[in-house]
Amino acid sequence: MGRAFVYVIVGGGVAAGYAALEFTRKGVSDGELCIISDEPVAPYERPALSKGFLLPEDPTRLPSFHTCVGANDEILTPKWYKEHGIELVLGTRVKSVDARRLTLVTSTGETITYNFLIIATGARALKLEEFGVEGSDAENVCYLRDLSDADRLATAIQSSSNGNAVVIGGGYIGMECAASLVINKINVTMVLAGAHCMARLFTPKIATFYEDYYMGKGVKFIKGTVLTSFEFDSDKKVTAVNLKDGNQLPADLVVVGIGIRPNISLFEGQLTIEKGGIKVNSQMQSSESSVYAIGDVATFPVKLYGEMRRLEHVDFARKSARHAVSAIMEPEKTGEFDYLPCFYSRFFAFSWQFYGDHVGEVVHFGEYEDGKVFGAYWVKEGHLVGCFLEGGTKEQYETISKATQLKPAVTDMEELEREGLGFTQTVVSQQVVTEVKDVPSSEIVRQTSRVVSLVTVEKPLHVWHAVTGVVVAASVTAFAFWYGRRRRRW
Ligand SMILES: Cc1cc2nc3c(=O)[nH]c(=O)nc-3n(C[C@H](O)[C@H](O)[C@H](O)COP(=O)(O)OP(=O)(O)OC[C@H]3O[C@@H](n4cnc5c(N)ncnc54)[C@H](O)[C@@H]3O)c2cc1C
Repeated sequence: MGRAFVYVIVGGGVAAGYAALEFTRKGVSDGELCIISDEPVAPYERPALSKGFLLPEDPTRLPSFHTCVGANDEILTPKWYKEHGIELVLGTRVKSVDARRLTLVTSTGETITYNFLIIATGARALKLEEFGVEGSDAENVCYLRDLSDADRLATAIQSSSNGNAVVIGGGYIGMECAASLVINKINVTMVLAGAHCMARLFTPKIATFYEDYYMGKGVKFIKGTVLTSFEFDSDKKVTAVNLKDGNQLPADLVVVGIGIRPNISLFEGQLTIEKGGIKVNSQMQSSESSVYAIGDVATFPVKLYGEMRRLEHVDFARKSARHAVSAIMEPEKTGEFDYLPCFYSRFFAFSWQFYGDHVGEVVHFGEYEDGKVFGAYWVKEGHLVGCFLEGGTKEQYETISKATQLKPAVTDMEELEREGLGFTQTVVSQQVVTEVKDVPSSEIVRQTSRVVSLVTVEKPLHVWHAVTGVVVAASVTAFAFWYGRRRRRW
């Protein structure tokens, strides 16, 4: 028999890191919390691996991207866990869990008992072998899910300078890695099964903008086909990839980004599984009351759409983690999880965010020609349900997020296209005016972000309020600029 903890988190990725910070903020005591991870390092911001980590000069390295730096919060180094009395069990796999008996067994043979278990096992990269293609173990075939993959890819990039890389898949990993390869002076061909990149989210118009930019950087796209086999040299290194359409592409390096699968096998047959993930309620609680699931592995109710979904994005990992900890530590104070889906990505000098749902009719807006600020709205049954924005400011992203959450009515699609970003700004301003009608003015001044909005919509406000608003707006802009520069690295 081994140790006993009040709270155990299985998995030590993004969600685990954010959960740990929330536990400390909710007053967890020394020795109550244990995190078990099969990775050898403390939780880190996984998105950094395809961005700053692959830069040719001054690449991002740990400890600079441990959680929770991505949310501009504390950097939780191993020392932090020690100082907060959190047991961080690294390089150790959880081999089995008995959800009824509240016990688990680790790869070292230890049995650990708990009162509450949080599942944060994330996902694994899909392998080519699962599609009948052999050769993933060749030293120049790379996947990207964890730090060891990223180290391997960075090494392969160094030895492929001026060579040829083939990127299989045009999703997040494919697009971000392709950009990093170009920056590392490698010739890139992307092989896409579908008609365009980021096919699950981008409209053809959005995809065309980014693909044109990539082609301007020398990237070639081959679409509507898949990899069928590799050619090897005598050292078992891949020299070329064969495609279903008959093409053969020379390759010094192959990067594969063909999707992920949530790590749920420990819990199959014990917990209810839905849509490939562990089904949880609006408190992130699974079908066993003492077991919670967060991040990529959780299928949760999206209140806004009345639907169960599983999301594979970092914002959800962070927010679901905080919510689960709150639900465990302060159940009476924790309401239903009301989450607005949020995705983002960055490649080259581009940076976009998406909020909501990408269903229904699409209206594009903004400057697609110069590529600075442009986007799209999704409208379903007469209501705005989704918004994509490239090149926005922090305030603009906050605005589209707030407006999308409100699901405002859209009566005229042409007007929506003409108004562009102005539509969501008006929606949010009107909402603020409605909300503050009965609030005393002293209260308004304290709520600084609202003062900024009010200055733009309520001109008769007292001059002092207006000055405060301008000062706050300038500070927010300066902070956003500084913060944006810092964040670009992860
Ligand atoms: C390269 C890359 C770039 C990304 N970029 C973006 C982006 O730009 N924007 C965005 O929104 N999202 C991005 N994501 C997705 C985002 O990182 C994930 O959604 C997020 O990491 C999910 O957090 P998680 O804690 O659920 O899982 P993870 O962060 O994957 O953590 C799971 C952890 O559990 C461990 N584990 C699994 N099974 C066991 C076991 N049996 N025993 C012990 N430990 C176990 C794993 O090793 C891992 O450490 C990116 C992902 C990757 C891989």
